[in-house]
Amino acid sequence: MTDLTPLLERIADKRDDLIALTQELIRIPTLNPPGENYREICDYLDARLSAHGFATELIRAYDTPGDCTAYPRWNIVARREGAHTGDCVHFNSHTDVVEVGQGWTQDPFGAALIDGKIYGRGACDMKGGLAASIIAAEAFIETFPDFHGAIEISGTADEESGGYGGVAFLAEQGYFSPARVQHVIIPEPLNKDRVCLGHRGGWWAEIETKGEIAHGSMPFLGDCAVRHMGAVLDKFETDLFPAMAQRRTDMPVVPEGARQSTMNINSIHGGQPEQPDDFTGLPAHCVPDSCRIVIDRRFLAEEPLDQVRGEVTALLDGLKTSRARFDYALRELNHVLPSMTDRDAPVAATLAQQIETVLGAPAEFVASPGTYDQKHIDRIGRLKNCVAYGPGILELAHKPDEYIAVDDMMVSVEVMARSLAALLLPTDETGRSL
Ligand SMILES: [Zn+2]
Repeated sequence: MTDLTPLLERIADKRDDLIALTQELIRIPTLNPPGENYREICDYLDARLSAHGFATELIRAYDTPGDCTAYPRWNIVARREGAHTGDCVHFNSHTDVVEVGQGWTQDPFGAALIDGKIYGRGACDMKGGLAASIIAAEAFIETFPDFHGAIEISGTADEESGGYGGVAFLAEQGYFSPARVQHVIIPEPLNKDRVCLGHRGGWWAEIETKGEIAHGSMPFLGDCAVRHMGAVLDKFETDLFPAMAQRRTDMPVVPEGARQSTMNINSIHGGQPEQPDDFTGLPAHCVPDSCRIVIDRRFLAEEPLDQVRGEVTALLDGLKTSRARFDYALRELNHVLPSMTDRDAPVAATLAQQIETVLGAPAEFVASPGTYDQKHIDRIGRLKNCVAYGPGILELAHKPDEYIAVDDMMVSVEVMARSLAALLLPTDETGRSL
C-alpha cells in the first residue's frame, strides 16, 4: 500500500494555513438574503485555487431567484487534472451564510480564534468545511502530483435559500453529470465522525380560508375566515399530526424526533394587516374575509409526494362537506423530494472507512432532517454517488456564536485527504492502493 506518512506530515504542517483560510472566508460576509459578496468570495477562491494548479470557471446564475445587478449569483468551479485518467472527486460547498440574528458575544465576521475555536457566522455552516476540503486537496496534490483522475472544488450560491442560483443551476449546465464527476462530497457540518447519506423531502404550501366581510358587531351577517382556519388547525391536531407521528422512516435521520413525518405551521395571518409596534391606533371593527397559513411539511422517503399533498387536500375537502360555508384555496410554494444514497456507494463507503481509520471507531451513517444541495445533484445531475461529510457540530448551524473547532477541521482534512488517496491513487488487482 502507498505510504501515507508524507501526506499526513504535510497536513500537520498546514494547520496555520487552515486557520488563516477559514478566517479569511468568514471575513467575507456572504449574507443570504440578499446574497452579498458572492463575486468577492469567488474571486478569493479563484486566486487561492489558481495558485495551486486548478483551472477555474466563474459562473453567474443569470435570472435565477434573487439574481440582479446588485446581488449577482456567482459560483466558482475549480478543477485540477491528475497525471492519468481516472475518477473525478468533487467537493461542493455553499458560500452563503444566513442572517446574524441576536445574541452574539463575538464579532460575527471577525473570525476570532479563541481556545482552538474560530467564531463567526458560517464558521461551521460551512466555511470551515470548505476550508478543510481545500487544505485536503492541496495537501494531496502536493504529495501525489501523479494522481489519477481529477479533483474539483466548487463554491456555490444560495444553498440557504434552496440552491437554485447555485448547485441547481450548475447541475442544469452539466457540471454534475456522471460523465464529468463520479464522487461528490458536500462538507456540510454533520460532525467529523458521521457520513450523511441524504435528507427528507419538503412540501411548502399556503392555505387560505375564505369568509365574508361584515361589521364586527354583527358577525352573523358575515363569515369569519379565522374561525374556518381554526377548524383547519383543529383537524390538523386531531387527524393529521397523530397520523404523521405513526410513520417511521428507515432513513437514519438525526435527531431521532425527525425520523417521523413532521409539519411546522410557518405563519398565520387573518383579518386586518399587522401594524408596526409604534402604531397607536385602534382596530376597525370587521369580520375577516381571509385567513392564511403557510405549512412546512417534511416527509419521508417512504411517503410519495402525491400522498403528502393528498392527505392535506382530503382534509380540507372534508371540511367543505362537513362545515357550512367552508371554502379554501391551496397554493403550493415549493417542494423538494427526499434523497438517499446507498451506504455501499463508493464515496459513502470510502469516507466511512477513512473515518474509522482516523478516529478508531466505526463511522455513523445519518440522514438530515432538512434538505441541502444533494437534492439537485441527485435529481438534476442524475448523480447518486453523493454524500455530505464535514467538520462542525450540526446543532451550531445558524445559532449565535457559531464556531468551528480547529481540531475537528484537522480530523476532517485527514479523512478527506485519505479518501482522495483511496479513490485517486492506483490500485492493484485486489483493489488496494499500491
Ligand atoms: Zn449549510
